[in-house]
Amino acid sequence: MPYGRYSSRRFGWLLPARPAWALQELPSLLVPLGLAACGGAVAAAWPNRLLLGCFVVHYAHRALIFPLLIREGKPTPFFTFVLALLFCVYNGYLQGRSLSNYAKYPSGWLKDPRFITGFIGWLIGMAVNIHSDHILRNLRKPGETGYKIPRGGMFEYVSGANFFGEILEWFGFALACCTIESLAFALCTLFILGSRAKQHHQWYLEKFEDYPKNRKIVIPFVY
Ligand code: NDP
Repeated sequence: MPYGRYSSRRFGWLLPARPAWALQELPSLLVPLGLAACGGAVAAAWPNRLLLGCFVVHYAHRALIFPLLIREGKPTPFFTFVLALLFCVYNGYLQGRSLSNYAKYPSGWLKDPRFITGFIGWLIGMAVNIHSDHILRNLRKPGETGYKIPRGGMFEYVSGANFFGEILEWFGFALACCTIESLAFALCTLFILGSRAKQHHQWYLEKFEDYPKNRKIVIPFVY
C-alpha cells in the first residue's frame, strides 16, 4: 500500500497523517457501537458484549490514541485514505452486525477453550502491536523523519513486529468468535499486513547493510 515510506503523489492529494488515521479508522469504532445499541437479545448476551468490546477497544485505540502518538508520519495519499475508510466502514458493519444480531453462543462459552485461547491471543497480539508501534515511534528524535533499524521486543525476531501483533490479535479474535465474518477479517489482515511486512523487510535489507540476517518477515521462526 502506497502510504508511510512508500507515500507518493501519484495516488492523489497528500493528507496529513494524524487526521487521515483518525477519520479512516473511526467508522470501525462508531458503526459497531451504533449496531450494538440497536441490537436485541443477541447483542445483550455476555459473550457478544465481550467480543464486541474487544473490537471496539482496538479501534478506540487506533482511531483516537494512535493518531495522537505518531510523530512526523509521512502524509497519506487520498487513494489509500479512501480504501482504508471503505474497509473500516464495511468491516465495522460486518463484525458489528454479526456480533449484535447473529452470533449465538452456548451457555458456558466464556469457559470454552476456544474462547479462552482466542481471547488470550487477542490480548497478547494487541500488547505486541502497541509495544512494537511504541518502539518504532521512539526510533526518531523530535524533528527527524528518516528510518533506523528497529531493535528490541518482537523486532528481534521479525521485521514486521507491529504487523505480527495485529495478525495474532485478529486470529485470536476469530477463534474466540468462531464466526465466518471474524475469520474473513483475520485472513484480510494476514494478506494486507503480511505483504506490507514483506515489502518493509526487503526495503530494510536493501537500505541497511548491517540489517540482522536472521530476522524473519512477519511470523517468528517461520516466515
Ligand atoms: P509502519 O511500521 O509502516 O509505520 C508505523 C510508524 O512508525 C510510522 O509513523 C512510521 O513512520 C514509523 N516507522 C516505521 N518504521 C520506522 C523505522 N524503521 N524508523 C523510524 N520510524 C519508523 O506501520 P503502518 O503505518 O503500516 O501501520 C501502523 C499501525 O496500523 C500498525 O499497528 C498496523 O498493524 C496497523 N494497520 C492495520 C491494518 C489492518 O488491516 N488491520 C492495515 C494497516 C495498518 P513513516 O510514516 O514516516 O513511515
